[in-house]
Amino acid sequence: AKAQGRNTLCFYDPAMQAAASARSALEADIRQGLQRGEFLLHYQPVVDARGQVQGAEALVRWSHPQRGLVSPGDFIPVAEQTGLIVPLGQRVLGLACAQLAQWAADPMRRHWRLAVNVSAQEFRHLDFVGGVLQVLEHTGADARRLTLELTESLLLHDVEESITKMQTLRERGVGFSLDDFGTGYSSLSYLKRLPLDQLKIDQGFVRDVLTDPNDAAIACTIVALAQSLGLEVVAEGVETDGQRDFLLRNGCRQFQGYLFGRPAPISDWVQPAS
Ligand code: C2E
Ligand code: CA
Ligand code: CA
Ligand code: CA
Repeated sequence: AKAQGRNTLCFYDPAMQAAASARSALEADIRQGLQRGEFLLHYQPVVDARGQVQGAEALVRWSHPQRGLVSPGDFIPVAEQTGLIVPLGQRVLGLACAQLAQWAADPMRRHWRLAVNVSAQEFRHLDFVGGVLQVLEHTGADARRLTLELTESLLLHDVEESITKMQTLRERGVGFSLDDFGTGYSSLSYLKRLPLDQLKIDQGFVRDVLTDPNDAAIACTIVALAQSLGLEVVAEGVETDGQRDFLLRNGCRQFQGYLFGRPAPISDWVQPAS
C-alpha cells in the first residue's frame, strides 16, 4: 500500500486485482447465462433400502458456450458473492418444479420427491418464501413432493427468522432437509427446534465409514439422532456395496451416491419398466 495524500490509501496488489477482475468477468458471464437459458439441472437418484428410486436431488449445471458443462463449485460461490444466486436459485426452482409437474403425470414417478439446494443468500432474501410459492403456483407442482436442502450455518444465522420461513412453507407441504449434516456447528439444542423432515449424512463421513472408526461412529450417531428426533436420514456419497450394507445394518434407509446413479440429465435416466 502506498500513501496517497492524507487519508487515502491506494492498494497495489496484482493478485487481488486479477482475482477481482476474474470475478467481475464471471459475474457478467453468469448474468448472460441466465438471460440465455444456459443453466440446467442434472438429477441424481435417491433410493430406499431395497434400491428402489424414490426421488432425486436436482444439481445445477451450466452449459457454457465456450467452457462446456460447468460444475456448481465453479460458479455458485461467485453467484453468492454477487447476489446472482437469487435469480439463479429462482431459475433452478422453476426447472425443478416443472420436472415435478411432469412426474406427476407419470404413474411410475408420481410419488417421487425432488430435493433442491438452497444457498444462504437465497434463503435470507426478503421474498424467499414468496418466490417459492410463486414457482409452485406457476408450475402446478405439488408442494408435498418438494424438499428444500438447507445447511446448518444458514439456519443458525437467524434461527427465529429461519423457523418462521420454514413453517410458512411447511404449511403448504414443502419438506426441509439439513444438508451436509455433521460438518457445521451442530448445536443439538437448536436442532430439535427446527421444523425439519430429514438429515443428510455428509459424504465426508460415508467415504471412510468402513475404515475410519470415527467416521463410522459419527455416521451411526447421526442415524440414531435422526431416529430419536423422528426425522428421515439419507446417506449421500455412497459408492460401494460395503458402505451401503454398513449403513443399512445401522438403520439408514435412504441412500444417494454413484453406487445407485450419477447426476445426469433426466433424458438419460433409464425408463422404469411399466
Ligand atoms: P451437495 O448438495 O452436497 O451435492 C452433492 C454433491 O456430491 C454433488 O456435486 C454430487 O454430484 C456429488 N456426489 C453425489 N454422489 C457422489 C458420490 O457417490 N461420490 C462423490 N465423490 N460425489 C458424489 P455437485 O453436483 O458438483 O454439487 C456440488 C455442490 O454445489 C452441492 O453439494 C451443492 O452444495 C451445490 N449445488 C448444486 N446444485 C445447486 C443448486 O441448484 N443451488 C445451490 N444453491 N447449490 C447447488
Ligand atoms: Ca444437497
Ligand atoms: Ca450434501
Ligand atoms: Ca475421515
